Amino acid sequence: MIDSHSHIYCDAFDGDRDLVVEHAAAAGVTHIVLPNENLASVARVVDTRDRWPEMMSVAIGLHPEEVKGDWTAQLEQLRPLVEECGAVAVGEVGIDLYWDTTYRAQQLDALHEQLRWCVELGLPFILHCRRALDDCLTVLRRFGAGDRPPGVFHCFEGDAMAAREVLDAGEFLLGVGGSYTFKRNDVTRRMVTAVGLDHIVLETDSPYLAPVPHRGQRNESAYIADVARAIAANTNLDVVDVDRVTTGNARRLFKI
Ligand SMILES: [Zn+2]
Repeated sequence: MIDSHSHIYCDAFDGDRDLVVEHAAAAGVTHIVLPNENLASVARVVDTRDRWPEMMSVAIGLHPEEVKGDWTAQLEQLRPLVEECGAVAVGEVGIDLYWDTTYRAQQLDALHEQLRWCVELGLPFILHCRRALDDCLTVLRRFGAGDRPPGVFHCFEGDAMAAREVLDAGEFLLGVGGSYTFKRNDVTRRMVTAVGLDHIVLETDSPYLAPVPHRGQRNESAYIADVARAIAANTNLDVVDVDRVTTGNARRLFKI
């Protein structure tokens, strides 16, 4: 299995990162993608990848919640690092209007600029889209259908109809993680059943959003096995097939 979205480089894992990676490998996780947050986190992201170069890849970008007054300066410094760090994607980028809409216009512009990097470098994006699907699709549609970069809508929160709109807009995948297992989240379960596994990648977003039966605890890559099992149970598929299809999707997107 591939964990397409983990922040295992963050300080929540400083005490036992080696053990967490061991757990992940024992649970069948073969690869972990580490999306960056801001300029300050790049060194941590890269150091973590360099400790497990066979098992980890990095994405470099500016997280939408980090888009503040200094966003143009941060982007200027991040741009060369995408290539220097050997990133497999630009991310995480996007728009988040859940807590704060102050920088909405800047978030749109920062997303547009970073999607341009994807086009220039031939890389996919990792998109964080929270309460902002229309805005994200608007920015993506500024690129002609032919040069709209591929990417993953990480932790996709929309229903089946929203998923269809996303998938009709480009070569996009939907990230599914712990929230799939939450009792009240029929929306995501129905969405996955409706769109089918060909459009899904697994992710933890660790340390956040641990799946049942670990809900409320620190999330770690090993737990995507719980998500895969839940998807298998809900879609009447074998967990081996859930793994094979979603892993293939992640491999093709990130070329890992
Ligand atoms: Zn993230």
